[in-house]
Amino acid sequence: MTRRLVWALLAAGLGAGAAAQSSQPSADRSLVVRDVTLIDGTGRAAQAHVSIVVRAGRVSRIVPGEAGNEAELTINGAGLFAIPGLFDAHVHLSPAPWSQRADQLNRLLLGGVTSVFDLAGDAREVGDFARATLAGEIDGPSIFYCALMAGPAFFTDPRVVASSLGFAAGQAPWNLSVTSDTDIVRAVAGAKGTGATAIKIYAALDATEARRIIQEASRQGLRTVAHATVFPAKPSDLVEAGVTMLAHAAYLVWEGSPPSVDFTKRAVGDFEHVRPDGPEIDKVLSAMVARGTGLNPTLWIFNQSQDAAAGARKVWMNAVTRRAADAGVRIVAGTDGLLDAHDSSPILHRELEALVTGAGLTPMQALLAATRDAARTIGVEADRGTIEPGRAADLVLLDANPLDDITNTRKVHFVVKDGRLVSRRPSSR
Ligand SMILES: [Zn+2]
Repeated sequence: MTRRLVWALLAAGLGAGAAAQSSQPSADRSLVVRDVTLIDGTGRAAQAHVSIVVRAGRVSRIVPGEAGNEAELTINGAGLFAIPGLFDAHVHLSPAPWSQRADQLNRLLLGGVTSVFDLAGDAREVGDFARATLAGEIDGPSIFYCALMAGPAFFTDPRVVASSLGFAAGQAPWNLSVTSDTDIVRAVAGAKGTGATAIKIYAALDATEARRIIQEASRQGLRTVAHATVFPAKPSDLVEAGVTMLAHAAYLVWEGSPPSVDFTKRAVGDFEHVRPDGPEIDKVLSAMVARGTGLNPTLWIFNQSQDAAAGARKVWMNAVTRRAADAGVRIVAGTDGLLDAHDSSPILHRELEALVTGAGLTPMQALLAATRDAARTIGVEADRGTIEPGRAADLVLLDANPLDDITNTRKVHFVVKDGRLVSRRPSSR
């Protein structure tokens, strides 16, 4: 227990033993972070010496100087930096043993990740994690998730077979094989019925089929995420159809090659001849700006690759991510990972570092990619992604300024989730 927290608990009239209890949800609990430097996630500059007043799980006021003497819990924010809770907008939570995943979700939250976007798996299992988190059975991030659609050729993939248990391959509403014969209105309704808020378009679809899915999803109020190329549909086909976000910057390279149906080659495009600043790529990036399409680069996971194309691919994806950001494309941070054994912090911190040191984004651009712009892409910007009055109080208090050095996002001192001070606790199942 830190001195700062003891102080906070004493200020709230609580003994040290009440730490865990003090972090439990309470409908009308009030909390103030006093005299902190605020980086609110809207893109505006840091504001020194402000107080963030939280009531009933939401930010109620942000005031200069000190405030909130009436709050039940006071956190001394002097010397700390408040940023919005971070999003990892590309994870896969299933399949996994429940207790192991509950523990990982708790570690993610303690590491500053207060929301995740699951881009396909077993919607029954992911939905249970989402429900358990809302119910307080897991102390973890808010979970938003996708149902997957792809052409029939994809449904021999062992991952999709495993996450469709009980259904023939391609027949689960969250892992659905789509052809020109598919009743797309029913298919999208079935996907929505799983609790998913988005559809992930993976592979083996032409431009016409991809467009049918994207447009019907939009009509039924769902977001759409696609691999940046879904073979044969190209990045520009997906953007023109209105896809919400393209995943994996490296796959944009296929915009410069003839259409291919071989999605197994997706990571080995022609990085030598298709320039990241060439006319085909500039055209698709301009279309993304015009349509408000997000780009989820996933730099970290490709930095782990050791295959023959890895070197050229890294240079290319970094260059195209930089060019996209410079052009005004909405960059959305996500890892396609979660946690690993070599690092106590969530992998998201390494994605932020890769966005800055690899792609050359500013720390502010990287931070917006993991806060405001992730929330906009998922469709929860009215609730999360920035620290403003009325938003859910998802706050990360850092020991050092992330705008000076992006690696400072790792220096997590406190996490506040929906107005609760988070503490380590075991899952209740
Ligand atoms: Zn993924």
